[in-house]
Amino acid sequence: MSKTTAENVTAPVETLDDQLKRMQLETARMQQEAAKLELEAKQLELQERQYHVQDLKGRIADRQLAEMQAKNNRESAGRTFAQDDATDKYRWSVCTHRKGGVVSARDMRALTTGGNEDQYAVIKHQMINGDIWVRCLRCSKTWAPQVQSNFYFRDGKSVAPRDGVFDKEKFAAAQAEYERAVAFPTRNTMSGSVICQFKKFNTETGRFEDAADLYRENIRGTNLR
Ligand SMILES: [Zn+2]
Repeated sequence: MSKTTAENVTAPVETLDDQLKRMQLETARMQQEAAKLELEAKQLELQERQYHVQDLKGRIADRQLAEMQAKNNRESAGRTFAQDDATDKYRWSVCTHRKGGVVSARDMRALTTGGNEDQYAVIKHQMINGDIWVRCLRCSKTWAPQVQSNFYFRDGKSVAPRDGVFDKEKFAAAQAEYERAVAFPTRNTMSGSVICQFKKFNTETGRFEDAADLYRENIRGTNLR
């Protein structure tokens, strides 16, 4: 006959003290877990920051490279402009701007330095404001009416009027050269465009005034190429 009774197999009843201990233990474990997660999060955050820094460094390096490249490009473009300018000036100085000259397979210089006839190898073009521009067909030198504000200098360099001194002689010489060019005899007919008068409103006088100089100044970088 078995002595086993229901009372005997029931689990031992947890004392209050035991319960308290178990809860403390559980709390400690949870705290530990939380600390671990926090540490992991911090590590990830750190890693993310490191990637971010690497990213930034890469972008800065790219940017520096691009800036260096742009600087090199600007410098080489500047050199090219200066060279082109010097080449133009040399070609203009050796050209007679005249027709004629003997061209052979061996010597074609007359094509770029001009010939020796009375007639000039130029075209004359009347601009929209009525100004006549003259261009040599051999060396491409272009003569246009001069604008006073382009003749201000400081230390030998062309500057804005407020920064320099007006060179009356240079202006007069350039204007005289232009007038000679307009008078170059040539059988080529003048080309032209619709003629308009350029005016600007003067707020001080309340009137429209002739703006030929303003127009000329605005197209001074233009060439009849
Ligand atoms: Zn010429």
